[in-house]
Amino acid sequence: MSHPLPQPYDYRQHEVREPDWTRLPGWSEVTTSEWEDAQWQRAHCVKNIKQLRALMGDLLTDDFYDDLELDQAERATMSMLITPQMVNTMVPDSHDTGTPTPQTFTEAYYVDPVRRYMLPVFSDRRTDWPSHPYSSRDSLHEHDMWRAEGLTHRYPTKVLAEVLSTCPQYCGHCTRMDLVGNSTPTVKKLKLELKPVDRMQQHLDYLRATPSVRDVVVSGGDVGNMPWKNLEAYVDKILDVENIRDIRLATKALMGLPQHWYSDDVLAGAERLATKASSRGVGLAVHTHVNHANSVTPLVARASRGLLDVGIRDVRNQGVLMAGINNSVDQLLDLCFALLDEASILPYYFYMPDMIPFAEHWRVSLADAQRLQHGVMGYLPGFATPRVTCDVPFVGKRWVHQVDEYDHVLGISYWSKNYRTGIELEDPDAVRKKHVYYDPVHSLPQEGQEWWINEGYPKGQIAAETHAAAAASRAAAASDMAPTH
Ligand code: SF4
Repeated sequence: MSHPLPQPYDYRQHEVREPDWTRLPGWSEVTTSEWEDAQWQRAHCVKNIKQLRALMGDLLTDDFYDDLELDQAERATMSMLITPQMVNTMVPDSHDTGTPTPQTFTEAYYVDPVRRYMLPVFSDRRTDWPSHPYSSRDSLHEHDMWRAEGLTHRYPTKVLAEVLSTCPQYCGHCTRMDLVGNSTPTVKKLKLELKPVDRMQQHLDYLRATPSVRDVVVSGGDVGNMPWKNLEAYVDKILDVENIRDIRLATKALMGLPQHWYSDDVLAGAERLATKASSRGVGLAVHTHVNHANSVTPLVARASRGLLDVGIRDVRNQGVLMAGINNSVDQLLDLCFALLDEASILPYYFYMPDMIPFAEHWRVSLADAQRLQHGVMGYLPGFATPRVTCDVPFVGKRWVHQVDEYDHVLGISYWSKNYRTGIELEDPDAVRKKHVYYDPVHSLPQEGQEWWINEGYPKGQIAAETHAAAAASRAAAASDMAPTH
């Protein structure tokens, strides 16, 4: 009799659940109708340590708050803003076996995957290489490719339209940290200058004047923070542009504030847009950003399925691959199956984190990303198998196995592309150039780490602005040639 060996990943259907918010002292009296209301959620976001203390009562120790305070003073690139929906998915099973002690709850809080990226503390971050020497505020150089304020034209046929610079929630690892959210002691944010109505008009003018563009990603920030009637009016006008065939609305709030997306007025407006898109043969989809299976709850499913029911063509997920959050095959597949089975959300991309300051503790190496891509293949349907992707500065999204060359010792990978970005339209060499991406230095073998130190990047150097200035000049040089070592 044969004995089949277990599969590397053990698939089981997991029913998703809404964690009980009344387990948190500050919300012990909150009713279901309050919880399921978008306005209540927005009004009760956690924005500072005082509010977190009031919510948590005695559940967290003072050491945790000290750790958080130090991070906010010296490291955080995003200010604190967390919806109740997201706070509730941190340590969701904390009270399943009785009331925890402050010590056990705090220990669970420290390792919680959602807490690790929404509420970063000082001790999460690396002290040896807190920032990569080539990290920078706008690591993808999107602003360099603006054709109008907030309108990035990087790929030949598609544009990114940033219509606002706020979100209902702020993620610690936000790639657009130079523009999105409030300034922190570490980062003074750029500001969009134009009035929203003028910014959007300029976007529409560019789309009408550029027939080679067929695809618009409407993003921010998070479109879930734009008054619905304004967003609907903007998308409605994009639908009138003859050359546009695909529109994607980018909103992490589908997960962070699902109450917004299933509210009656939003679903009614989404239905109007979906009907018009369908009559024109335009694909209107929603893209969201979920990083862990714990975030997929019945309310998220209600929002996603509500949008599909009114005619939105697809709801797709673009997560970010982060150490300590989802950098194992089991965590990625658990998330993908929760999205697909429980919320009808299509797993689409997992991005490697971008090279922003103070992000090294989250970043994974290219080798790890390739291992994870290999590990998730074969379990999900092909159409729902996510691509693990590196967003290479001056190149764009590349599947992690598309790398041209990879120096595993120095952690430097070399990439090329098959199109010209918006700033290279007159450059005959653009498609021949090699561009570089860097692994976290701490992930390298000893020899590689010593090379970086010998190059003049001392361990523990933490001056982000110094890094950013150095990175700007070196990135410009790197774009002109394939470095040799
Ligand atoms: S929702 Fe998106 S844009 Fe907003 S803070 Fe998070 S990652 Fe940044």
